[in-house]
Amino acid sequence: MADQLTFLAVHAHPDDEASSTGGVYRLLANQGVRTVLVTCTNGEFGDAPGGVKPDADDHDADEVAAIRALELDAAVEALGISRLVRLGYRDSGMKGWPQNDDPRSFWAAPVDEAAARLADVLRQERPQVIMTYNEHGFYGHPDHIQAHRITVAAIKQLDYEPTLYFNAIPDSIMAIYRERWAAEERERVEADAKKGVVREPVEPVTSEDDEAFEMGTPDGLIDAAVDISDATDAKFDALAAHHSQIADSFWMKMGREQFKEVMRTEWFVRATNPLSLEGCVDDLFAGYR
Ligand SMILES: [Zn+2]
Repeated sequence: MADQLTFLAVHAHPDDEASSTGGVYRLLANQGVRTVLVTCTNGEFGDAPGGVKPDADDHDADEVAAIRALELDAAVEALGISRLVRLGYRDSGMKGWPQNDDPRSFWAAPVDEAAARLADVLRQERPQVIMTYNEHGFYGHPDHIQAHRITVAAIKQLDYEPTLYFNAIPDSIMAIYRERWAAEERERVEADAKKGVVREPVEPVTSEDDEAFEMGTPDGLIDAAVDISDATDAKFDALAAHHSQIADSFWMKMGREQFKEVMRTEWFVRATNPLSLEGCVDDLFAGYR
């Protein structure tokens, strides 16, 4: 096919591109597909240097944004992304935080206005395949929900129908992650006990507490499972580039070798299906090449 193949993902914060699409970005770039990343916010309410949390007095939101802008540049380089578009909204913080109400925040931005800006990029690039999050923002973060809303609204303004995917994690894999998180929490409780701090382990939030936390997808409903084993080095590099946020994450603790063994697949569900694909494909561009 003569048409240039183009992939575009709409992500909420710097680092989301690496965690949910790092593998497919690198793989598609290796295959000669043009890859575009739209990052909606500057990530002001991530951790500040030294792991300082956003509610701490010495957390400087603008400094965090400046650090994360450079980290995003490094991740984009590692993934071979052709074009980065920063929409430049302010991070809205987690659900219920007062930052949600900041008029500069992405959550406070009118959907029509942000969608119009995204639609401009979509008209320039004409991606056949677009990726963002489901209506719960995958895990309930307001900026992820807003990314979903503006993407769906922008696509409606196009003169063609792209294939839209949402990132997903199969229930079978989510069960393994939950076990890992629980094991890490037990280790922290033990470490605290040695320091004389006695506490109960924090239970992970589940969909029983909040529907938006329904992160897993039944395995049979996964529409694309992409083998990213040829791209796990780059995915690890891209995650590592965001060191102010994830130096402490379970990915980094795993180390590169275990990461390459474990993180071999990225999963998606199809939200639009103009090519009438059936079943689970192994390529986001199935039907286009
Ligand atoms: Zn995010």
